[in-house]
Amino acid sequence: MLNEIVLVGGLIFVFTLLYLSFLLPSKMIGNDEDEKENSTKTGKGRGSGGGGDGVLRELSLTNGQINRMNKEEVRQKLEELHLETRGVKEVLKKRLKSYYKKEKLTPDVVGVKSEHYDFLLVIDFEATCMEENPPDFQHEIIEFPILLVNTETLIVEDQFHSYCRPTINPKLTPFCTKLTGITQKMVDKAPEFPQVLEDVLDWMSSKGYGMGHSRFAVATDGPWDMCRFLYQQCLYCGIPYPRPFRRWINVKKHFANFYQTRGGTKLQEMLASLGLQFEGKPHSGRDDAVNIARIAGRLIQDGCELRVNECLNNGRVEPVVPPRAKLASNN
Ligand code: AMP
Ligand code: MG
Repeated sequence: MLNEIVLVGGLIFVFTLLYLSFLLPSKMIGNDEDEKENSTKTGKGRGSGGGGDGVLRELSLTNGQINRMNKEEVRQKLEELHLETRGVKEVLKKRLKSYYKKEKLTPDVVGVKSEHYDFLLVIDFEATCMEENPPDFQHEIIEFPILLVNTETLIVEDQFHSYCRPTINPKLTPFCTKLTGITQKMVDKAPEFPQVLEDVLDWMSSKGYGMGHSRFAVATDGPWDMCRFLYQQCLYCGIPYPRPFRRWINVKKHFANFYQTRGGTKLQEMLASLGLQFEGKPHSGRDDAVNIARIAGRLIQDGCELRVNECLNNGRVEPVVPPRAKLASNN
């Protein structure tokens, strides 16, 4: 009898585990883009009433057809529509789906509050380093580039660029120079970080930042530029962390959520998935920023809403939740 109870109990346990393993991953790995696409597929997006249901159903059918197409078929369709044809299969499919979505859906049908920025401030710091950075290594910013990208035209309208003279480790390692292309001479004649930051904030004001007539968002490749390099640098210099850099667009995160490629999200990998080559020298701050801007531009053109998705709170990175997800979690 005891054996039977143990056997039945064991079976229930195994079936429960199997059931959960089927059910949970699809729920747990969900992200903004899944959610948008699913609500589109099921026609349950907020604001889908008032004639939206038919459009959503139509769009769902179109998405299904695109899912069944092979890469060459999608490429040909994009060509017919005079759209970009470079990129891996997932990128091309997402591009085509986005095209139809944009054609058919008005923002009220999608039900997501749009967060529009007029300009991106694309930033990529370079810092002092060693070949094997010890865990307690104090990185100091040695290059501070910002590209001002117009989100409408995708043109880089202006740029700020300065090297910074490090003070904890004033001598660059040969490895650092080789990696970044930044020489001892370049940093020796550069101002120290506090001065560079002042120049940055002045430049941003001169571009209309904080004046209220244009909206700006900082964009970076991952959270580290802000949460590690800038945060540590400000701590070390004893200056308050600057307000404009408290929130940013993590381009890498958007890329992963939007295209869902299998190709990885290192800068070069993202470019490769888009069928693009790195322009310039990798690990040069300015060139990295140029390439991040190219990826951001591609995301915008492919219909991704590049909203602020991360912020810094007491030195810790936190996700910034979009309005709709906030509403859903409140319900
Ligand atoms: P990145 O934006 O990828 O060029 O990296 C920013 C900074 O991270 C560099 O300036 C270095 O300080 C550090 N870093 C990046 N890659 C390496 C590496 N392979 N070894 C040591 N430090 C690195
Ligand atoms: Mg870089």
